[in-house]
Amino acid sequence: MEKTITQRSAWDKVLTKLQKRSLWMLHYCTGCGAVELPPTMTARFDMERFGIMPMVTPRQADILLITGYLSVKTLKRVVLIYEQMQSPKYVVGFGSCTINGGMYWNSYATIKSLDQYIPVEFYLAGCMPRPEAIIEGFTELIDRIGEGKANSWEDYYKNYEFYRKNQEHVFGTIDTRTDIPDDAKYFKIGEVEK
Ligand code: SF4
Repeated sequence: MEKTITQRSAWDKVLTKLQKRSLWMLHYCTGCGAVELPPTMTARFDMERFGIMPMVTPRQADILLITGYLSVKTLKRVVLIYEQMQSPKYVVGFGSCTINGGMYWNSYATIKSLDQYIPVEFYLAGCMPRPEAIIEGFTELIDRIGEGKANSWEDYYKNYEFYRKNQEHVFGTIDTRTDIPDDAKYFKIGEVEK
């Protein structure tokens, strides 16, 4: 028994090491800050040297980067995308608009704080954050994954009712069936009521 746990633990360490250097990112470019991504991805800052690559589908993505303000309609799409991603998954709020609404803080059409609707691993403050800040944020994420501390995604399973309530408060009842409550039981990472 003890041997099995040791083996699993060693295997987990190997998996984590591989995973932290192979992160695929879906960038959901809602706001003006997206203009800082091309220099981050191309030769000048070369995000790929950290093993971070763009990905076009949620199913294969590890990181969901939200690059700015979210309208009510857009939030609904973001939630759908987030729920399609495989765990572990990491949401990055990019720019002040994702933190507190930024310059759209008093707009009736935007949400103010992304972490009220889906778990956010970290925010990149600024309007707009520069490529240096993006690289700094991603290197920190890599370190946190390596240390087993990048676990914000678990909160969606543990506190699904909280997120669902906030989502429905913004865009009404969600009819689409979600796998989240069943997945939570499978992973045994939280108590989720039926
Ligand atoms: S934080 Fe600034 S750059 Fe980013 S979406 Fe908001 S207004 Fe645009």
